[in-house]
Amino acid sequence: MSPQCSKCGSDMQEGFLLEKGDGGVLSQQAWVTGKPEKSLLTGLRLKGMHVYDVRTFRCTRCSYLESYASEPSVCY
Ligand SMILES: [Zn+2]
Repeated sequence: MSPQCSKCGSDMQEGFLLEKGDGGVLSQQAWVTGKPEKSLLTGLRLKGMHVYDVRTFRCTRCSYLESYASEPSVCY
């Protein structure tokens, strides 16, 4: 079930935020618990952290975006 827009009360459409990386590599954004720690190998250290898929809803009327990190978490 889609949520209602908190700004104007209209229906919201489900989607996700796309990360457009170098060389046309596409990936989905995620939400991670805690503060970012830099890693030489991977850019950011994710060991022992919980990573959630983010669902973002877009209002069909005013274009407002609202995100939910409610998908099952992955522990690296
Ligand atoms: Zn709206």
